Amino acid sequence: MSTFQAPKGTYDLIPPDSARFLAVREAISAPLKRSGYGYIETPGFENVELFARGVGESTDIVTKEMYAFETKGGDRLALRPEGTASVLRAALEANLHKAGNLPVKLWYSGSYYRYERPQKGRYRHFSQVGAEAIGAEDPALDAELIILANDAYRSLGLREFRILLNSLGDKECRPVYRAALQEFLRGLDLDEDTLRRAEINPLRVLDDKREAVQKQLADAPLLRDYLCDACKAYHEEVRALLTAEGVAYEDDPRLVRGLDYYTRTTFEFVHDGLGSQSAVGGGGRYDGLSEMIGGPALPSVGWALGVDRTVLALEAEGVTLELPSTTSVFAVPLGEEARRVLFAKVTELRRAGIAADFGFGSKGLKGAMKNANRSGARFTLVAGERDLAEGVVQLKDMESGEQGPVPLDSVVDVLRERLA
Ligand code: ATP
Ligand code: MG
Repeated sequence: MSTFQAPKGTYDLIPPDSARFLAVREAISAPLKRSGYGYIETPGFENVELFARGVGESTDIVTKEMYAFETKGGDRLALRPEGTASVLRAALEANLHKAGNLPVKLWYSGSYYRYERPQKGRYRHFSQVGAEAIGAEDPALDAELIILANDAYRSLGLREFRILLNSLGDKECRPVYRAALQEFLRGLDLDEDTLRRAEINPLRVLDDKREAVQKQLADAPLLRDYLCDACKAYHEEVRALLTAEGVAYEDDPRLVRGLDYYTRTTFEFVHDGLGSQSAVGGGGRYDGLSEMIGGPALPSVGWALGVDRTVLALEAEGVTLELPSTTSVFAVPLGEEARRVLFAKVTELRRAGIAADFGFGSKGLKGAMKNANRSGARFTLVAGERDLAEGVVQLKDMESGEQGPVPLDSVVDVLRERLA
């Protein structure tokens, strides 16, 4: 193993690719920022108990994928595998649900950790941008979140994603369905682990990715046929609102998702160009989570979109984001006096809001021009002793190749005009 190798299942974001990650985070969060969602940041780790209770003891995330550890002080912590439990914990701790109007609307962006088998689109460290609307039960809120995720993906130029939609019922109807499903699962030829899971959390068996299991589930009872009237009406309203806003979705009566806490509206964004890691994001309503972690009843809804897989989806569709060049002007000094003058000019340009960089180190004209080229700058400024004696710098347009002297005093104005 090389000393310079990132840990298994992780990778570094480095320029220029890292700019695309930033742009994706930006694009996903932009619709949230203009829809009343405030930014929240929570620690990268929490008490392990929060996830055990909040995500669910029987989920893969908690049983297999969590980085749990004991600190020197004896605390049992876990690197966060997902965002919702932490955000709700933080909102409860700060009493946000008591401070103002409900729902409390929050968005976040950060790193998450799961001990998984690394493959394309599946890493041990990955990024999500997420949103949570806490403390309101309103189908328009569910619709709002789905619309915002849809609009974010559209704004990136993605077209080949689909929205899968389902309702998981509530504490009225879900137990009836659960029992029916359990009865069905007991009659199948399943391994011991899966049978045990069927007893603890039968809905999760529907999420089993193995073909041998999926085959046997063809005739499994569907929650759709067990929804109570309230859940049915709620779901119909979410569907109607999405349709009215022109957001296409597919009803997927088998969609259950991997976390224990979902109720009613459940959805997943899938992209068909990603192979088996096809889910780019997902979310849903989690009316029971607050009580599960010891808080008051706070019906809530949210989603998380994976940044890594969204970037892969852009690649799969051949979408290239129009990222402005990071440097507009590159200054190349020839000699000590020019070095001081141009360094001051670069600082002045930056303070005027123009992205500028400088030929650092003593590498001569040729080497410095190479750097200027690599920077992607539209213009270079070159100055030597003779230019300074005349009070000018040479301004070169790197696109047209045109070059000519510009008075030192008007460099900033000229560049501002030509970059506009
Ligand atoms: P999967 O079924 O692919 O394991 P999931 O249901 O575990 O996905 P969620 O918990 O819903 O995923 O997380 C939301 C999003 O975060 C996913 O749709 C995906 O884009 C991203 N994500 C989850 N786990 C990983 C991972 N290990 N590596 C990269 N991205 C991930
Ligand atoms: Mg997973």
